[in-house]
Order: sequence, then C-alpha cells, then structure tokens
Amino acid sequence: MKVLVYSAKDFEIPYLEKANNRKHELTYVKEALSSKTAMKAVGYDAVSIFSADDCNFMVIEKLKSFHVKYITLRSTGYDNVNLRAASRLNIRVANVPAYSPHAIAEHAASLLSTLNRKLIVSNERVKRFNFDLNHLVGFDLNGKTVGIIGTGKIGTVMAKIMHGFGCKLLGYDVEENKTLIKDYNMDYMSLKMMCQKADIISLHLPLNENTHYLINEDLIEEMKPGIVIINTARGAIIDTKAIIKGLENKIISALGMDVYENEKGLFFKDASQDIPRDELFIKLNAMPNVLISGHHAFLTKEALTNIAETTICNLDSWEEGKANENELIANGLNLPI
Ligand code: NAD
Repeated sequence: MKVLVYSAKDFEIPYLEKANNRKHELTYVKEALSSKTAMKAVGYDAVSIFSADDCNFMVIEKLKSFHVKYITLRSTGYDNVNLRAASRLNIRVANVPAYSPHAIAEHAASLLSTLNRKLIVSNERVKRFNFDLNHLVGFDLNGKTVGIIGTGKIGTVMAKIMHGFGCKLLGYDVEENKTLIKDYNMDYMSLKMMCQKADIISLHLPLNENTHYLINEDLIEEMKPGIVIINTARGAIIDTKAIIKGLENKIISALGMDVYENEKGLFFKDASQDIPRDELFIKLNAMPNVLISGHHAFLTKEALTNIAETTICNLDSWEEGKANENELIANGLNLPI
C-alpha cells in the first residue's frame, strides 16, 4: 500500500521503518495535513496523521477526490478527524487505541511533582550556584485527595501512581472502574462534588462534544482554593480564559499542561525565532506556577514502538481485507466534534 505519512518527525521515522519492514511504501512529509497540504496525498492509498493534523470535512472531501481510502492515526485521540464525514464518504479510519497509558500517566505525575516541588526554579538556581531555599516550599502528596477525571486506560494508571504516593482517590467517569473501587478505594462522584473535595485534579478524557470546556468558569468557582490541575488529555477540555482567571484569583495554585486549546499550528515546531502572537499562551507561559510541555507525554521508546507497530498493523489489515479492531467508526465509538 502507498502511504503518505504527514507530520513525520525525525524521532519516529526509525520506529516506523522497523515496524514496516519494507511491506508498505511509506513516504514522509514534515507538513501537517490541512486543506492546503491535502494535495500531497494524490496517488496514495492511505495517509497517516498525528494529533496536529487537521482532518476536517473539507480535507476529507479532498482526500476522497484523490482516491485516498484509509486514514491511520498515530495517536489515541481522534478529535481532529471528522469521523461523520469519513464514514459518509466511505474512508476508513483507525487509531492506536493504547500505545502506552504508562507514558502519559507518568508524564502527568511528573508535571505534578515538578510543579509541587518547584524543581525548575530550584534547578535554575543551582545552575547558578544559588542554593537559597526561599519560595521552594511544596506539600506532601501523601494524604492528599486526587480527582481523576476519566478513569479509562490512562486515568487508571494515574490513579494507581497516585495511590502509590498515598493519595485518596476520587473518580469521575460515565463508567465506573470496579477494580479501582475495590482495590484502590476510588470514590466515584459528581464533577461538582469532586471539585469541592480535591486538592489535585488530573484530566484523562477524550475531547468530544460532551467534554469540550468541561472545566469552565462555573466549575472552577466550585473548586477548593489552592487546587492543582494537570491536563495531559486535550487542551479544549479546559476553557483557557477561565483557567487563567482561576490562576489569577488564586483558586488554582498551579497548572501543569501538556496540551493547549490552540496548540494546532503552535506546537511540534521550533517557533523561537518567530514567536506566535497567542496572547493566552503567552500569558500562561509567563506564570511561574504554570508548567507547560509541548504535547510530549507520549514520547517514550515503548510508546513509539507500539505506535509504529499498530500503525503498520492497521495498514496490513486493510490491505489483507481483514477485520481491524482499531477502526473507529466500525467500533461505534463516541463521535468527536
Ligand atoms: P480511554 O478511552 O481508555 O479512557 C477515557 C475515559 O473517559 C473512559 O473511561 C470514558 O468512559 C471516559 N469518558 C468519555 N467521555 C466522557 C464524558 N463525557 N464524561 C465522563 N467520562 C467520559 O482513553 P485513554 O487511553 O485513557 O486516553 C484518554 C485521552 O488522553 C485520549 O482521548 C487523548 O485525548 C489523551 N491522550 C493524550 C496524549 C498526550 O500525549 N498528551 C497521549 C494519549 C492520549
């Protein structure tokens, strides 16, 4: 199968090459898929995309007119693909449902610890031989109450990590995880009640029409003053303007984020010589109690190996006409916006 790999990063190509083992004809382009770059897919059977690619209605129509039959995502989240349009135009879409929930959950825990123990400031001081300890006071995670919003694959690993730190666990999900209740004393409750009780909240939901701006001004007003929020899920689950307000009025004491509402076109490239005029991001980035990573929670060797192997497996099953358990529409999953 001829496959155009959009948004190809140098670090992932060796993993894809190894998993492919010359079965499919892979061509790599650095550009993200968009209505401008869709033309590049002429003559290909399939495209492979990542989370910064924009596979909206117009792009899907273009892909269809170029006879592209398959879209394989190298990500778990698929909020950037208009699945309804793909389904209507008979383009098959698959993702990588679980490449390493540990990679993301461990990153969320790292953001929390780094923020709490002020490791960035501490390290910046030590690099300059400044061993002053003022303003470096954190808190014990042991005994704190952590709200896990979304207790699927990643949220479950995060819950287990936090349990290891000695935290009490609160959960919010449309489906309760019985193992977390039985073995980790997770207490499921409404979002509002969780916000009133939790010292820390970590988000592990997909972005869809029900979760867009789930964390909004009204909910932030319910939160326990001093709460720490960690978001490794999708940026638009949080209303960025509302979270900035929450940080300014000190309801939120710290924010760790690997994803940002307007990250498309901003993340995944070196913009240091042409700083984007994104006022919300600039404001967040300037706050000392906000720690931002550029959507790299997935970036472990294990995750890259699994992403590459599942991507090739998706292509193999389509080429061989076999059932593909990673197909999004066939599985009847929640349709993203
Ligand atoms: P998952 O499907 O295993 O878990 C998601 C959970 O959210 C499920 O338990 C589901 O019931 C729950 N849920 C869905 N909609 C809900 C709603 N409206 N209200 C309450 N609960 C709801 O997914 P996962 O593998 O744990 O991944 C979670 C998300 O993490 C992905 O959708 C993706 O957006 C994000 N992610 C980010 C990165 C990164 O690099 N930062 C990497 C992978 C995944």
